[in-house]
Amino acid sequence: MGAGHPECPGRLDAISDHLVSTGLMGLLVPYDAPQATREQLGRAHSSLYVSELFDRAPAEGYVQVDPDTAMNPATLQAALHAAGAAVLAADLVASKTMQRAFCAVRPPGHHATRDAAMGFCFFNNAAVGIRHALEAHGLERIALVDFDVHHGNGSEDILAGDERVLMASTFQRDLYPYLGDTPLGPNMANVGLPARSTGEALQEAFECVWKPRLDDFRPQMIFVSAGFDAHRADEMGGLRWVEEDYAWITRRIVELAERHCDGRVVSTLEGGYEPFALARSVAAHVRALIGA
Ligand SMILES: [Zn+2]
Repeated sequence: MGAGHPECPGRLDAISDHLVSTGLMGLLVPYDAPQATREQLGRAHSSLYVSELFDRAPAEGYVQVDPDTAMNPATLQAALHAAGAAVLAADLVASKTMQRAFCAVRPPGHHATRDAAMGFCFFNNAAVGIRHALEAHGLERIALVDFDVHHGNGSEDILAGDERVLMASTFQRDLYPYLGDTPLGPNMANVGLPARSTGEALQEAFECVWKPRLDDFRPQMIFVSAGFDAHRADEMGGLRWVEEDYAWITRRIVELAERHCDGRVVSTLEGGYEPFALARSVAAHVRALIGA
């Protein structure tokens, strides 16, 4: 995004360093993310938009594609691999090669709409993975859980009205992208939270809204848009969650998956911009995903 920007390579360095130093990395099976194909991207984005991004990718310098979102010469490749990670994870989990997967990727995806890049996002990694699981693996019902501090407006734009998907999200109200209060479809379970809410508000959202809807829906796979910017140390938002809140919600998601879909969960990284809090929160999330 440019020098000094919080959506920076150091985010992934902090995560991998912490996973190594805590010993968690040794419990994981690493995969390299392939690039998503045009066909795979086309399940979530218009072909015109995908072509535009390819055309606008600069050979040098930066191109601003949205007030918050810029491309440099490496951005398109990174975005293709980020979306491809969700596709590979869907393949691994759908085929039962792996029961759960975490995609440590950037750029994030959940603000990218069908036709537009925004909010540091280019391709909607989770939506690309979900549509791949539905269309290439013949699944009929997939849930998307999004606990990033910002509303996943891009995922909602792409998935609203798709009865094969139930999207359950929490987000801070009156915060970028200033959407989500009015759900765009009956398959959306949006819960806006007031600024300064702690993890208790997340627990209430899960118990009162998400859990009944998800149990009723009986997903065959659960995707997670795992953003960690609701952490109290993260200045991108104003919520006050801590590592244990991420562990708690992940355990609940895993329990739901065990109940409905042989434990199958694919999680993709979204936000999280305070590198130390991000790394600790991802570790709590991954530890709960693998039941360590
Ligand atoms: Zn965010």
